[in-house]
Parts: sequence; structure tokens; C-alpha cells
Amino acid sequence: MRKVQFCAGHRLLGHEGKCANLHGHNYLVEFHVTGREVDELGRVVDFAVINKLFKGWIDDNWDHGFIVWDQDKNAIDALKQVEPNKIYQLPCNPTAENMARYLLTEISPSLIDNIEGYDLQMTKVVVWETENAYAEATLDAKPESLPEMTDQVRNAIYS
Ligand SMILES: [Zn+2]
Repeated sequence: MRKVQFCAGHRLLGHEGKCANLHGHNYLVEFHVTGREVDELGRVVDFAVINKLFKGWIDDNWDHGFIVWDQDKNAIDALKQVEPNKIYQLPCNPTAENMARYLLTEISPSLIDNIEGYDLQMTKVVVWETENAYAEATLDAKPESLPEMTDQVRNAIYS
């Protein structure tokens, strides 16, 4: 398991309370990787390899940026007024649950395929939004176990 920390802003479109405002978090993401076998040094994979790929992706795309739902035209238009800006448009509301599932199902498979010589799988991604609140996505989770996900995301992933 590899931890990656980053800072980002977001808001939850349609939230009934303060999360509807633009605000930020110091996020912590756990990437849980499993392999069918260990290499000659007894490792599933070198941590540095995972770090380079996944911290690299987070740094490039999410760190010190704003993560917004691509339907949130109001926030996107406002953020684009600021120069420079770093906006990442998610196909779903940027809750910790949706961010974990997006990393697990949309981002991890292609990144992990870049690691040659290992048979690896990202089995779980955990997104900590605060020290006390996290959400996780696992490969074997059934749609029914993810009530927080928007129907849009669920349909995109399971259809
Ligand atoms: Zn928040």
C-alpha cells in the first residue's frame, strides 16, 4: 500500500449544506496493490515504482487544483476566470467515494499496465478527506454497496 498526499479544492453540487461552497482539503489517498507473486527480492512491486506512477498522476492532475463535476458549469466558468488555473473535470460529483472509485476504475488500470514484468492489480483505493473521514472503493464491491454514488457514475461503471 502506498500513500499519496495532496491538496485540492472542490465543491459538491447540490449539497444541502456548506459543502456546496468552494473549499479545500488536505487529501490522503491509499493505493492498495496486489500481485500474484513476489519478485526475486520478495516484493510485489517496488514502492518507488508505484510512487512514481500514482503520485505523478496525482501531482499532475489533482494537486493544487480544483476537482469539479463536469456538470458544474457555474463553478467551472468561475474558476476559469482565474489565471492561472488548474481544473480537473470529473464525470461525477467530487465526493471522496466518487474520487476513490474514479481512481480505482478509470485511472489505475492504465497506469498499472505501464509496470512491466509484474502481474499487478489495484484492488482498493481509499480517499481520506479529513483525518476522520474516508471512503474506499474496492474491485469486488457491488453497486448496491455504494449508495453514495450518483446514478450517473454507477451507470457509467456498471453498464
Ligand atoms: Zn469537501
